Amino acid sequence: MKILVINSGSSSIKYQCFDMATPTVLATGLVERIGEPAGRLIHRPAGGPAVQRDGVIPTHRDGLAQVVELLLDGNHGVIESPDEITAVGHRVVHGGERFSAPTVIDDDVRQTIRDLSPLAPLHNPPNLVGIEVATELFPDAVQVAVFDTAFHQTMPPEAYRYAIPTALYDEHKIRAYGFHGTSHQYVSDVAARHLGKPATDTNLITIHLGNGCSITAVRGGQSVDTSMGFSPLPGLIMGTRSGDIDPAVVFFLSEQLGMSVSQIDRVLNKQSGLLGLAGANDLRDIQRRHEEGDEAATLALTMYTYRIKKYIGAYFAALGRVDALVFTAGVGQNSALVRQMACDGLEALGVRLDDAKNAAAAGDISEIQAVDSPVCVLVIATNEELEIARQTVSVIRS
Ligand code: AMP
Repeated sequence: MKILVINSGSSSIKYQCFDMATPTVLATGLVERIGEPAGRLIHRPAGGPAVQRDGVIPTHRDGLAQVVELLLDGNHGVIESPDEITAVGHRVVHGGERFSAPTVIDDDVRQTIRDLSPLAPLHNPPNLVGIEVATELFPDAVQVAVFDTAFHQTMPPEAYRYAIPTALYDEHKIRAYGFHGTSHQYVSDVAARHLGKPATDTNLITIHLGNGCSITAVRGGQSVDTSMGFSPLPGLIMGTRSGDIDPAVVFFLSEQLGMSVSQIDRVLNKQSGLLGLAGANDLRDIQRRHEEGDEAATLALTMYTYRIKKYIGAYFAALGRVDALVFTAGVGQNSALVRQMACDGLEALGVRLDDAKNAAAAGDISEIQAVDSPVCVLVIATNEELEIARQTVSVIRS
């Protein structure tokens, strides 16, 4: 069974085509700068050379049509006809309270995704465009939505409600939803299998540190708390997002500095985090400058890891018993220094790293705790696309 996974953003489409029998990746690719003067498509068939096409790509439809052409291409293609694709799995950012599981897309689901757009104005509309275009280009395939928020729908009210007037929740659904659910779910499943325990008996703290960062408390395979909230802005310090701040800062920026809502949005989402603190959003730059003695980089790294540590402590309290901490995504998988700084001082909670194992972590999964550490510490390579493909298969089978 062949599954195409699509992540359609405001000006880009990422895709992966899987043969789920093994499962194997047949091709991956990226269409970027859609609607801009210099568009680009990069298509990487497994085992073959990458194909790059530069030129204007006016719309998502044009971009996806080119993808279909390359998937069918005599030299670079991986399928012979669009009807070989049994289903298309779409990453959809916001499923609100309606979707706690992947769902076959029909008119009603499409309308609900549209209705949820005010909660994710930058994401749900381009996700919908991807769905519409894929439905047109793969008319025989089942279209499935896999929601970033779905995994966190198991959070109890004490975790997801805000202490604001109840009417704002009842009438406007203002509450924490959480994001990166597909990644937290994927690494939770891998961790439970690695520990040799049923997921229903495994407590984990999963720490996704990429460009966006979030941390989740997982009890018995279910999310019970997570650091992102109503939007992907709160919680951990990220590449360009502030993470947690006092909401009164927003009043100050507006009333005292005269900033508009969109200027404040830009400051907190695009100009804060590591970028705001040290002028660079890539942790590799921050780490290199820290090693060279740059004070701003050291402060940024210290704040970044201190915030992770605070959440780890909070989620130990929430869970009571923790089998493993799991680090994942670009920073979590690659930065031994971040893992070491985030875990430093957690010995009283039962977390002790082995420095050599931490430095050597690589591949799909590594254990990096010391032999006498009661809590396991894992580094797991996340694979959101494979998780979307698997969930897509499970929906069509059921
Ligand atoms: P992701 O969003 O998961 O693709 O993660 C992207 C981020 O991972 C980049 O912005 C980098 O900051 C970080 N990253 C990637 N490779 C490394 C590395 N070798 N060491 C530290 N951070 C890294």
